[in-house]
Amino acid sequence: MYKYVFIDLDDTLWDFHANAKSSLHEIYEKRNLGHYFDNFEQYFQIYAKRNLELWEQYGKGAITKEALSLERFLYPLKQVGIEDAELAIKIGHEYLDLLPTRTALVSYAKELLDYLYPNYPLTIVSNGFIEVQYRKLKSCQIEQYFSHVVLSEAAGALKPDKRIFEYGLELNKAIAAETIMIGDSFESDIRGAQNAGIDQIFFSLNNEVSENFNSATYQINRLEEVLEIL
Ligand SMILES: [Mg+2]
Repeated sequence: MYKYVFIDLDDTLWDFHANAKSSLHEIYEKRNLGHYFDNFEQYFQIYAKRNLELWEQYGKGAITKEALSLERFLYPLKQVGIEDAELAIKIGHEYLDLLPTRTALVSYAKELLDYLYPNYPLTIVSNGFIEVQYRKLKSCQIEQYFSHVVLSEAAGALKPDKRIFEYGLELNKAIAAETIMIGDSFESDIRGAQNAGIDQIFFSLNNEVSENFNSATYQINRLEEVLEIL
């Protein structure tokens, strides 16, 4: 039986997509980016696609945090002919200030934490930046649910590296066999937990089907379904 629950933060509990979008929309208006783009949706799509690619590269250790932070805002500007690194840096700072103040949670996240909290020590296992992730937990008032917050920068390894999970086990004095990981990224959360010998619940909101579809211990598309497992 499981005694410890590890949970990813972004897009598993904290609605990263909604929060990122509303933060960038505010900056888009403030910086009058409408002069350059057809509309916010166009800007956001270009940003989101590039951002995802950059996070993949960062996850593989191919680029630095600084390169990721700059390039994701510089790239959309370049697409409409603006070569302005300074503007991209400003947007990046504004974004990192604004984003962690946003409070949209994934549907049923709060209820799930209320349900799990009395029965399992809960640990966040996240690849996000330290200064950002703690502010998110505070803003949406879910910090108190977690016995530990394990972030890649502190663990010295990024998911799917098993060392970040082993660091979490160590903090909890837990063993892999009594631990389960809940996360929305197959590559980071599910593969990572597998690498560390930890069972997994793959939370796939869009019921995403991949060639790996069946290889998670459990697969759900709503957080409510965790109640059938834990
Ligand atoms: Mg995630």
